[in-house]
Amino acid sequence: MAELALHTPLSQLPGIGPAREAALAKLGLCTVADLLAYFPRDYEDRTVRENIWTLPLEEPVCFAAMVAEPFRTSYIRKGMELTKGRVVDGTAQVDVTFFNQSYVSKLLQPGETYSFYGKLTGGSGFRRQMANPVFEKEGSSAFTGGIMPVYPLTAGISAKLMASLQRNAALCVPQIRETLPEDIRRENQLAPAEFSYRAIHFPQSWEELQSARRRLMFEELFCLNLGLTLIRGRRSQHEAIPFAKQNLAGFTQSLPFTLTDAQLRSAREAAEDLAQPVPMNRLLQGDVGSGKTVVAAACAFLAWENGCQSALMAPTELLAQQHLKTMETLLGGTGMRIALLTGSMTAAQKRKCREALEDGEIDLIVGTHALLSEGVAFRRLGLVVTDEQHRFGVDQRAALSAKSGGTFRPHVLVMSATPIPRTLALMIYGDLDLSVIDQLPPGRTPVDTMLIGEDKRQRLYGFVRKQVGLGRQVYIVCPAVDQEDEEGMKAAEQFGRTLQQKVFPDLKVAIVHGKMKVADKQAVMAAFASGQTDVLVSTTVIEVGVDVPNASLMIIENADRFGLSQLHQLRGRVGRGQHQSYCVLISDNRNEMTRKRLKTLCATTDGFLIAEEDLKLRGPGDFFGSRQHGLPQLKLASLEGDMRLLHQAQDAARALLAKDPDLTRPDHEPLRARVEQLFRENRDIFN
Ligand code: ADP
Ligand code: MG
Repeated sequence: MAELALHTPLSQLPGIGPAREAALAKLGLCTVADLLAYFPRDYEDRTVRENIWTLPLEEPVCFAAMVAEPFRTSYIRKGMELTKGRVVDGTAQVDVTFFNQSYVSKLLQPGETYSFYGKLTGGSGFRRQMANPVFEKEGSSAFTGGIMPVYPLTAGISAKLMASLQRNAALCVPQIRETLPEDIRRENQLAPAEFSYRAIHFPQSWEELQSARRRLMFEELFCLNLGLTLIRGRRSQHEAIPFAKQNLAGFTQSLPFTLTDAQLRSAREAAEDLAQPVPMNRLLQGDVGSGKTVVAAACAFLAWENGCQSALMAPTELLAQQHLKTMETLLGGTGMRIALLTGSMTAAQKRKCREALEDGEIDLIVGTHALLSEGVAFRRLGLVVTDEQHRFGVDQRAALSAKSGGTFRPHVLVMSATPIPRTLALMIYGDLDLSVIDQLPPGRTPVDTMLIGEDKRQRLYGFVRKQVGLGRQVYIVCPAVDQEDEEGMKAAEQFGRTLQQKVFPDLKVAIVHGKMKVADKQAVMAAFASGQTDVLVSTTVIEVGVDVPNASLMIIENADRFGLSQLHQLRGRVGRGQHQSYCVLISDNRNEMTRKRLKTLCATTDGFLIAEEDLKLRGPGDFFGSRQHGLPQLKLASLEGDMRLLHQAQDAARALLAKDPDLTRPDHEPLRARVEQLFRENRDIFN
């Protein structure tokens, strides 16, 4: 074998034929460098302990023990063999059993000492039991004797193979270039690259692992921040049509209500951007019901005043239809021509709409992803608004921007109801400016939220009847679609049927979930919106944006299964009208953290506070972990949350770019390469 280098293809490693090569490629692993950047998803503490008697039960432990009597195999029934033996140390004896692994009786020799890794279960007196442990001769260290990494695997790649590949790859660790400048490492107390890559795969102690992870996490966050800041800088190189006419007052005066201060501030911030000859790229964040749509309408109004078309893109057909209605109400008096374009329209309808867009006969088009499809072209697209940002990626926004119909780029407004704390938002949406609507329109009664256990279920059903009796409607959200799992997680399909047949035979119960056809989903939602259904049993498909002001009760089954911010989103489906509304969280989960989480939701309706709390409890991993935001996937930052590190990375990135704005200094070359690699899917960042 030739000398191993970072760029060596894995096919040149011993034992890697075409089949394994393909399996590795599935994991994104093609070269030695890929392997080193493939981090364990977890670690097992297989440090060999003494005194079996004192070891905890029911959790994985590792200990050394001598085989006290030979292992013997007995035949239980067809296809089932049991191999049994006894091992001892000075403090206890353990009955060890193996199922269908009769070969172990030859490996485990009486009088010899081995280290075992597995779960101990209780027995009487000084006896313990253990089933199917991992074991090896005492003193060997392939499987026991330290902290063992656990890698994500795939069919054809065993843990053993991965471990041996990583041992090979480790030879190349010294070739890894240091990306972080010396002063940044010193200031932030970060371990060197070489140490970190070795320790993340082969930690000698938990402390080592911790400092390796900290450094690699920092590097990821730092590079993400650099990349996003560079994108942001590049944006100003594009030209946009400045909206010079700014008759915002003309718009606000035509509204049936007065804007809140927060709405007005956001509208002004946007208007100021729109007056510039560079594209606006603004994130409008506001809690559910805070009234974001009207700010979008204000922007569309300014576009129209300045002879430009606008597009408003929503993640679902239902939301698009709802937005159309809202826009017609808000802008109907202005003379603007507003239309809808969604995937479910007939070919003829779509064609007509496309022609009108191209001829400039539509001023504001509201639609779904259909707006992104080929064949949609604009005469003069000056503004793009996307709702519920996290459902659209950076590239999708770019795709719509490219349709402007000229050499200029449209201004972009992104609306999000996910109340991400400001610091984090700036990180995630680093290429966006931020406006926040932190105030609800006047006259809203906060939703009354309570946490109950199964014992109150019958009373709850009584409360459902009472609400329906008052003419209200009820949502019941379940975590699963169609199969209740062994842990009793409610499934919408099943539970909905049970409710209709056994609990509320006299009420109208409907079911909606993500596995249904779009048209069916829409029909069910429309029936609920028009008041034909009393109780809607659903999955989280209703999470985003639907507006049924008559709904006054939100019940969430297995509430512990949802994230805090998600629960808050769900709760936002009620309390949208003049009726006092309620949110009932059902959970028998006794876990202290879980109860604390759910109680937070009962105590406040402030989405930002809830998001901060969520962040404190769970860390930013959830935000980075999901691919929905269209950012590069982070490997480590999603494993654990550390806000302080995030801030440090942010500050360091800012300071570095102040010195080297385009990251072109020769000594920053390794860093630049790393940033490019992180944004591999968005190569054009640097061009
Ligand atoms: P969201 O931010 O959740 O998208 P919407 O824009 O849908 O909120 O607004 C929620 C409701 O509040 C709508 O029915 C809207 O007409 C109403 N609304 C918005 N702003 C105000 C206001 N300033 N005063 C009174 N009602 C308002
Ligand atoms: Mg909305």
